[in-house]
Amino acid sequence: MKILVINAGSSSLKYQFMDSDSGEVFAKGLCERIGIDGKLTHKVPGRDDVKNDIAMPTHNEAIQAVLDIMVDPQKGVIASTDEIDAVGHRVLHGGAAFTESCIIDDKCIEAIKKCIPLGPLHNPANLMGIEACQKIMPKTPQVAVFDTAFHMTMPPKAYIYAIPYEYYEKDDVRRYGFHGTSHRYVSARAVDMLGNPAHSKIICCHLGNGSSLSACIDGKCADTSMGLGPLAGFPMGTRSGDVDATILEYLMGRYGYDIKEMLNILNKKSGVLGISGVSSDFRDLDDAAAKGNERAQLALDKFIYEVKKFIGAYTTAMGGVDAIVFTAGIGENSIDMREKICEGLECIGVKLDKEKNNVRGKEVDVSAADSKVKVFVIPTNEELMIAMDTASLAKN
Ligand code: AMP
Repeated sequence: MKILVINAGSSSLKYQFMDSDSGEVFAKGLCERIGIDGKLTHKVPGRDDVKNDIAMPTHNEAIQAVLDIMVDPQKGVIASTDEIDAVGHRVLHGGAAFTESCIIDDKCIEAIKKCIPLGPLHNPANLMGIEACQKIMPKTPQVAVFDTAFHMTMPPKAYIYAIPYEYYEKDDVRRYGFHGTSHRYVSARAVDMLGNPAHSKIICCHLGNGSSLSACIDGKCADTSMGLGPLAGFPMGTRSGDVDATILEYLMGRYGYDIKEMLNILNKKSGVLGISGVSSDFRDLDDAAAKGNERAQLALDKFIYEVKKFIGAYTTAMGGVDAIVFTAGIGENSIDMREKICEGLECIGVKLDKEKNNVRGKEVDVSAADSKVKVFVIPTNEELMIAMDTASLAKN
């Protein structure tokens, strides 16, 4: 089936039009500055990119601009929007209500709205994308694919926080986890690469601008590093990862920050950017560290150290590990980062083959022949997962 995959943010909207069976991408692009002025970048394999300034006061105009360019006789890839069989939407937070993807109907929209307090930045934007598509393509089936859904198999001991239980019961405070579509895709690929054993223990390292690890037993998520929100876990590009809550009280008292300012610091000014003062981008950090910038080196060391700690924790929590997967921008492309993270993990049976590890953005086994634990690089493909879920639900 031909599926339009939509990832709507508050002022941006990414799209990909693809075949859910072959994974072929016919066109993809990005609407930016929605609500400000509006810019569309449209890419078709084998052609020059198209960049257009188009007024986009709301997501409706953005979706309309995407559909217009897709059917444009010169720049487009289809003759009519009827060729779009279904639309798949990435939705950040599905709470505990959504353990899998679902057809968007009134009930689903209500449930996504209910999750707004849990995903206050993303869910309203995701809903704007959904509502715009419903308005413009009322007859086309729409499907919601949740970032949290894959993690809903976590046992209570992994998802409960050690705070009064009433906050879980009354207010839904628990670990949810994110990047679920990516973890689902790469963990399934890893099981396949292991030869589809009946039992498997896999650690997926999604290392990008936002990063998270997951521990997967027999293909199902058993634990993950992000929490109620995507701030938790280990340091990321600009996010702090787990911090001692005492720091909040201390800094808020010292500088008079309110909670919004404090969270802005933890979300936007922390992580490797905060430590280094150089950049949130790992390529910039590599360059700076190579030139002797000690704080850039410290930021990289801290990242590596914390990822190793999570790998160790998940290995013992699962009682072993069969494969470690590296994915997302850093995981797929940083040869050095994979090598440094695996350094010293011989104690749990990990042995990297440095030659094989000399690879970027390809699905490959990079472990040494005698490594007890396989190490895989698996480029993630969240769009394909969304398209596949969308096709299978839209068919029924
Ligand atoms: P993502 O959020 O998955 O797009 O990943 C973005 C991150 O991947 C950024 O921090 C980039 O610096 C990092 N990245 C991309 N390519 C490389 C590379 N060749 N070496 C190191 N980091 C990279």
